[in-house]
Amino acid sequence: MIRIQKLSSLLSNQIAAGEVVERPASVIKELVENSLDAGATKIDLEIERGGMRLMRVRDNGSGIHQDDLGLALSRHATSKIKNLDDLEKILTLGFRGEALASVSSVSRLTLSSAVANEKGWQISSQGAEDAPSLTPTSHPQGTTVEVNDLFFNTPARRKFLRTEKTEFDHIDELIKRMALSFFEVEFILKHNERLVRHYRAAKTDKERELRVSSLCGPAFVENALKIEMNAVGLKLWGWIAQPTFSRAQADLQYFYVNGRMVKDKLVSHAVRQAFHDVLYGGRHPAYVLFLEVDPTQVDVNVHPTKHEVRFRESRLIHDFICRSIQDALAEVRPHTCESHQPIKEPVLMSAEEPVTTVASVQREKYYPTQFNKQHPLPLKVQEQLAVYEKLHAPIPTATIERNNEKPPALGFALAQLKYIYILAENAEGLVLVDMHAAHERVIYEKLKQNLATQGIIAQPLLVPITLSLSEREANCIESHMMLFERVGMTIERLSVENIVVRQMPDLLRDGNVEQLIRDIAADLIEHEKSARIEEHIEKLLGTMACHAAVRAQRKLTIPEMNALLRAMETTDHSGQCNHGRPTYTHFSMQELDKIFLRGR
Ligand code: ADP
Ligand code: MG
Repeated sequence: MIRIQKLSSLLSNQIAAGEVVERPASVIKELVENSLDAGATKIDLEIERGGMRLMRVRDNGSGIHQDDLGLALSRHATSKIKNLDDLEKILTLGFRGEALASVSSVSRLTLSSAVANEKGWQISSQGAEDAPSLTPTSHPQGTTVEVNDLFFNTPARRKFLRTEKTEFDHIDELIKRMALSFFEVEFILKHNERLVRHYRAAKTDKERELRVSSLCGPAFVENALKIEMNAVGLKLWGWIAQPTFSRAQADLQYFYVNGRMVKDKLVSHAVRQAFHDVLYGGRHPAYVLFLEVDPTQVDVNVHPTKHEVRFRESRLIHDFICRSIQDALAEVRPHTCESHQPIKEPVLMSAEEPVTTVASVQREKYYPTQFNKQHPLPLKVQEQLAVYEKLHAPIPTATIERNNEKPPALGFALAQLKYIYILAENAEGLVLVDMHAAHERVIYEKLKQNLATQGIIAQPLLVPITLSLSEREANCIESHMMLFERVGMTIERLSVENIVVRQMPDLLRDGNVEQLIRDIAADLIEHEKSARIEEHIEKLLGTMACHAAVRAQRKLTIPEMNALLRAMETTDHSGQCNHGRPTYTHFSMQELDKIFLRGR
């Protein structure tokens, strides 16, 4: 019979190391977090051979008292919490008192430190158990941790390490994540004695933006909206890229809770939900966001590497994040002339951008007053659809008045280019609109609004359509009758494998009903949860809008074009179609002058 015995402290530290020390980058994470917790403003990192040979982290933080050096290396020893109360309101990055003990059990570690006005002391451990001894050393205030030969005594772990370059790339990415959050700290990263990164302390808005730009690329910042929302004791701030800057991979997503980078399911769901409506399927949003929340409201002690957190009021947090981003995205529509922000310029930049001074454009004899901002288009779907037809009729001269107001944000239509684009003139210059994309967005937003208010206009089909499906598809459709009713489709089950469609939304009567129903059934089977059905309804509306929108290759009259421009100005999200493509762009007179080298 095998008897129970107590593990040696070395072995139990090595077991604990298994959880947090996966590779060199995880050591760097722990060491840099300690430096940040110690209030360092400058952190120097020297890496050799991807960190497998050496990692040295030097900071100018508070330092460790001579008497505490030994404790720092022992397990369950920390200066960051004293009792359960402290554990429930953590503001430091560390608190478990395990990192240094774990790292020192799988490497040769030297810790040197000095507190203010004291001499420096050093302690070394070789992964061995006997109490390491203290020696004096010269060290300025702060701490240096040197980790040599990671996993030298745990060969099984060493086998999992990848190439030097891969391991260093992980470190580089980690420092990037830290540098994004700790703007006021300077980071210097060297690999094999070569300077690889130098992030200088960023204190002003402009400097912070520069840091984000150097970490995430200038295109990100140029396409990003700067957001800052405060409500119900929560604050969310940072940068979100406009949907037109979406990515094929989820590789530009940084979310911090009280400064700590997290990869949390609730958070990513909230962000995804905010974007789902404006992103093309399979595309990923890009963002750098910081959530600030009372530390008692969030439990960071749920994961050894603390990548996940648990919120006390998770629903509230979810909705706050989602709503804040949605609001910011909804702002992306043409504004009135004074505050006009063309979509290709980040809102953030506006302070630095020269103010446009082109004289107000003199306008326009035949501007139809019914499309004036004070008289927005009627909102009912059928009227919206009829607008384009009605407008074919000439506008009676009685309604044509001289308009002395400021020209609207998207200006007045000049012409149509190749039956695809609308050219318009506004106060600043030239506006180019993709008419199909723009109309699609306008209709989509109206449909959503209608759905929320009076419901979608639908009519019975003259000839009902019978479809044969798999039993599973038919079951699924039957169990989602309510969903179909909500968007104006009436479907009945005829037999095990047959359904009949009796009513369709007006917008879709001419479409391929069979294909639509099959696609919806397949989608429903894939995600059966109710939240996804909400998303699904919107996706459905998107498909409907796309079918109903004025096709490219269609000739529009000037008043029709003006009607569309006015509708865009009053529509949320009208900067993109619901696939995330831009709907319009804009060239100021200065930009045009530049192209033609005028005034040089
Ligand atoms: P934790 O960070 O969870 O407290 P660690 O094992 O990472 O546990 O560190 C143990 C203790 O050593 C910390 O609580 C802190 O007091 C001290 N310490 C570690 N690194 C530093 C540093 N760079 N500067 C100052 N103190 C440090
Ligand atoms: Mg720590």
